[in-house]
Amino acid sequence: MESRTALVTGGNRGIGLEVCAQLAQRGLTVLLGSRDPKNGERAARELKKEKLIVYPITLDVADPVSIDRALAFLSRERVEIDVLVNNAGVYPPGNVLKSTEDAFRETMEVHYYGPLRLCRALVPGMQKRGYGRIVNVSSGSGSFGEGLEGPAAYCSSKAAMNAFTVKLAQCAGRHIKVNTLCPGWVRTRMGGPTATRGVKKAAETIVWLATLPDDGPTGGYFRDKKTIPW
Ligand code: NAP
Repeated sequence: MESRTALVTGGNRGIGLEVCAQLAQRGLTVLLGSRDPKNGERAARELKKEKLIVYPITLDVADPVSIDRALAFLSRERVEIDVLVNNAGVYPPGNVLKSTEDAFRETMEVHYYGPLRLCRALVPGMQKRGYGRIVNVSSGSGSFGEGLEGPAAYCSSKAAMNAFTVKLAQCAGRHIKVNTLCPGWVRTRMGGPTATRGVKKAAETIVWLATLPDDGPTGGYFRDKKTIPW
C-alpha cells in the first residue's frame, strides 16, 4: 500500500473523480480539488458510499487567490503533496477568428498558469523530500504531431501545457517525474455521451503516471501508457 498524498484538480466529476477513486483504492491520501466547495463535498460523500475516504479542498485553478488560499491551508495543516494531478479542464468552442479572447485567456489560466503556479509552489517541497509525481492531463488536441485537432483555445493551451511539462521535467531533478498524457475520448460532460471510452479506462494512464516507480519515465507524453508524438 502507498502512503503518499495526492492533490487532484477538478476532482469533483468526470475523469478527475475517477482518478480520486482509483488513487484512494491504492491507499493514497487524496485531496479532491473542486472550485465549488459544495460539489467537492458532494463528490467526497459519493466516494464514501464506496468506502473510499477523500478530503475535499476548494481550489479554482484559474484564480491565483484561490490557489494561494489552498496552499496556505495545506501549509497550516502540514499536508505535504507528493502527487499533483493537473486534471481541471474547460473546452470552449471556436477557431482562432471566432473564439473570444476570454476563451483563450480562460483555457490558458486553467491548463497552463494554474498548473504552473501549483507546480512552482509544490515541486520545491517534493525536491526536499526526494519524491514527486506531476501528471498533467492534456489531450491529443495539444499534439502538433496529431494535427492539433479541436477548438483553437483548447488546443493552444494544451500544447502550452505539454511544453511546460517538458521544461519542468528538465529542471525538477531525477526524483520528480513530470509527465503529460491524453486520456482518449471519454464519456464525461466534456467528451459527451458518444465518446468511445469510460472514465475507468481514461484514469488508468493518469494513475500509472501518478504512481510511477523511481525508474519510471519523465518528460513524456502518453496515451494508454504508450508514448505519443508531440
Ligand atoms: P469534465 O467532466 O468537463 O470535468 C472538468 C473538471 O474540471 C470539472 O471538475 C470542472 O469543475 C473542473 N474545472 C474546470 N475549470 C476549473 C477551474 N477553473 N478550477 C478548478 N476546476 C475546474 O471533463 P473531463 O472529461 O473529466 O476532463 C478532465 C481532463 O481531461 C481535462 O483536462 C480535459 O481537457 C482532459 N481531456 C478530456 C477528454 C474527454 O474526451 N473527456 C479528452 C482529452 C482530454 P466544475 O464542476 O466546477 O465545472
